[in-house]
Amino acid sequence: TPSILWFRQDLRLADNPSLHAALESGPVLPVYVLDDAAAEEWAPGGAQRWWLHHSLAALAADLAARGAPLLLLRGDAATLLPHLAGTIGAGSVHAGRMYEPWARRRDEAVHHALAETGRKLTLHSATLLHEPHRLRTGQGKPYSVFTPFSRAVFALGEPAPPLPVPDRIASVASPLDPLALEGLDLLPRPPIPEWWSEFPDHWQPGEAGAARRLARLTPELLAAYPARRDIPGEDATSALSPHLRFGEVSPRQVWHAAREAGAAGEHTFLKEVLWRDFSYHLLWHRPEMPQTALQSKFGEFPWRPDSRLLAAWQQGRTGYPIVDAGMRQLWRTGWMHNRVRMVAASLLVKHLLQPWQHGEAWFWDTLVDGDLASNAASWQWVAGCGADAAPYFRVFNPVLQGEKFDPEGSYVRRWVPELAGVPGRFIHKPWEAPRPPAGYPAPIVEHGRGRERALAAYAALRDEG
Ligand code: FAD
Repeated sequence: TPSILWFRQDLRLADNPSLHAALESGPVLPVYVLDDAAAEEWAPGGAQRWWLHHSLAALAADLAARGAPLLLLRGDAATLLPHLAGTIGAGSVHAGRMYEPWARRRDEAVHHALAETGRKLTLHSATLLHEPHRLRTGQGKPYSVFTPFSRAVFALGEPAPPLPVPDRIASVASPLDPLALEGLDLLPRPPIPEWWSEFPDHWQPGEAGAARRLARLTPELLAAYPARRDIPGEDATSALSPHLRFGEVSPRQVWHAAREAGAAGEHTFLKEVLWRDFSYHLLWHRPEMPQTALQSKFGEFPWRPDSRLLAAWQQGRTGYPIVDAGMRQLWRTGWMHNRVRMVAASLLVKHLLQPWQHGEAWFWDTLVDGDLASNAASWQWVAGCGADAAPYFRVFNPVLQGEKFDPEGSYVRRWVPELAGVPGRFIHKPWEAPRPPAGYPAPIVEHGRGRERALAAYAALRDEG
């Protein structure tokens, strides 16, 4: 019997368990459904849409080369898929499991609609190393702290080896008129025309681009990773995040590639990869995580929403060079170095007392790797309100962070051209330079004052709680 192969967040042919399962029962009809209405406010953000457009183009070409054209559709999956399955006489719809609350609701709806005609939705593990509902603490509870989670995962041993790409994919002709990729209307439109124009200089969406990045997991990169991964001016991390986000590579492939490279830093690197699994574990067990602080007392936090402060942060005009460099790197490339994400996020939620959800929303819209689990978990971690969060009273000093991790100022000079001529010792505090650079703002709030205000807000919260 034929089946439908429903691509979602696993836009790849290698190590794709849904593809293998579908082929076992007969020919397949590969489908992608853009279903923004189901995702509501978590429909892909602007930068993700740019990525998705190009990733689908790559997937469609790879599938066509193996004899199985990709059918693009737009609308309600719970209506479209059962209809399609009925028309081609498919017994099953195979898909990689998704963990977002909206996607779980949608899968329930698809499952019920298919069941009415005796068909099945079969979900496969394609996105994570371990399914979040399978991992439990010794007390039988979900994990809320990373270290025991990562220990438990390492104790499970090596994940199975990745599955190969089938040479040919027997396919069923589509009974529906396929939508052209342009019909999905993914590329963001004015008022910001082509803000993504530099993205292609940095990224190659699709499985081939992911394989190129994966090939960068060399013994040299891994050996240097523990010491260099925090230095934003260096290319010392894998930059695999958007490829993982869209499933152009599986974490299992990443795991085995790191193991094969076999260098001293491999364990540190794999632990970072596990943060992604951990974020999904949290999202699965705490589906409110994208909107609501996991520590309930933060519901009362005295945030001071201010659109002027938020805009200065978004535009990279806070007067703190490391933060501004990060925010501009984000705008121009769709990505920001992890260390700088932490410092920039901290400035927003602590010094500026802006709700973490506002920063989360901006990252969602502008990151090519915007991922509901990792983004929400990381924002809650920085804001101090998450399950396993940095304590709120640890307030990063953006000047010291800059001096420690970008000592020569090369990262700042690259992304903030107004500061190119500032002498090295003032690069992270240009307001102290003998001739402060023209056109660059003074600090949006003085560090000591911002820190005190943040701590006072937190103390008020504790008093109340
Ligand atoms: P590497 O250092 O090469 O790590 C390898 C892989 O491990 C990454 O590709 C990523 O999939 C995973 N990983 C590493 N660190 C983390 C982490 N802290 N949490 C979860 N996964 C991790 N990551 C996203 O993928 N999507 C997001 O939307 C996202 N939002 C973030 C928001 C904030 C405020 C912060 C502080 C971090 C966020 N991160 C997010 C985590 C992290 O910054 C990125 O995963 C990392 O910078 C990606 O670069 P890389 O691929 O070179 O990472």
